[in-house]
Amino acid sequence: KLHNMVQELKGNIRVFCRVRPLLPSDLPPRAKAQIVFPDKMDHKEIVLSSSSESATGQERKDEWAFAFDRVFEPHSSQAEVFEDISQLAQSCTDGYNVCVFAYGQTGSGKSFTMEGGSTDITAGMIPRAVEQVFRVAEELRSKGWEYKMEGQFLEIYNETINDLLGKGEFDKKKHEIKHDSKTGRTTVTDVNVVPLATSAQVRTLLSLAQSRRTVAATLMNERSSRSHSVFTLRIRGENTLTGEACEGSLNLVDLAGSERLEKSGAAGDKDRLRETQNINKSLSALGDVIAALGEKGEGKNDKHIPYRNSKLTYLLQNSLSGNSKTLMVLNLSPLANHLNESLCSLRFATKVN
Ligand code: ADP
Repeated sequence: KLHNMVQELKGNIRVFCRVRPLLPSDLPPRAKAQIVFPDKMDHKEIVLSSSSESATGQERKDEWAFAFDRVFEPHSSQAEVFEDISQLAQSCTDGYNVCVFAYGQTGSGKSFTMEGGSTDITAGMIPRAVEQVFRVAEELRSKGWEYKMEGQFLEIYNETINDLLGKGEFDKKKHEIKHDSKTGRTTVTDVNVVPLATSAQVRTLLSLAQSRRTVAATLMNERSSRSHSVFTLRIRGENTLTGEACEGSLNLVDLAGSERLEKSGAAGDKDRLRETQNINKSLSALGDVIAALGEKGEGKNDKHIPYRNSKLTYLLQNSLSGNSKTLMVLNLSPLANHLNESLCSLRFATKVN
């Protein structure tokens, strides 16, 4: 049985799929299932297949095919993935608002994709994109462009915003999102916005934010996989020769794990249940916004885009509209035991693509 879900691309929304390699720590599979990459030339398709025995003892095989703008196999390097993202990241220097999201269940490689490891080879999309933006800004100097950049790094946990660059432990300050419709700017009250002059400063800032998240994780039950992290680089450029000006942003988002919580676990633990409901709510709000944007891009209708249904979409409202480019990286685990979660992720991506 083949469920083909090949879809046309829409507007400024792209969806990539990346399957992580098997790790030495992965347990041997209990189920029979696999992911295959049929289209070796274009790298645009993946097929999930699973086989099981029916009640009558007959072998039953299911296959699900999905198409993406780009598929990355387990051996794909960070550099290869970035090659397909670098143009997009760079367009914030032309005044676009760019959003890159990593979506997938916990352990599927979202943080590896976005943040990556500590070496040049394993560095993820955030440090690579930032380096690229600084490099391009430097090149454009000779054409009269002077750029000013600033960064903020927020975490959304249980529909509450925390400042990953705040002083000390999470500061318990209440942060509110404010939109200025005249300037099209979104600000968050009482958060640290740090001027950035070199990419080395950004690296320092990223590792500070990273250590905050790790500290919180040991205190709070793998919190980092239950929260969204949103790194924003804001860029203002002025051309001293022509008087032109532009303003763009680069938003790099490591989403909370998309896995459904086992019912038994959730029932006994109210905090966990609330966390899960908040994650589900914000991920589906994100899916709704991107899907609505896609329809708008096709000129089908101009219906109201539901930004206000979650803090995440409200925060990114100005970066998920009009002058924006969005990329969703769907991270998948290669494990047969994760087939059902992988299918859920793929269906989510089909909705937004
Ligand atoms: P998530 O953020 O989705 O929970 P991680 O990024 O922490 O998942 O990935 C889970 C594990 O898999 C980590 O140990 C990570 O280093 C490893 N991993 C993920 N993707 C890759 C990859 N493409 N190459 C090598 N190791 C990877």
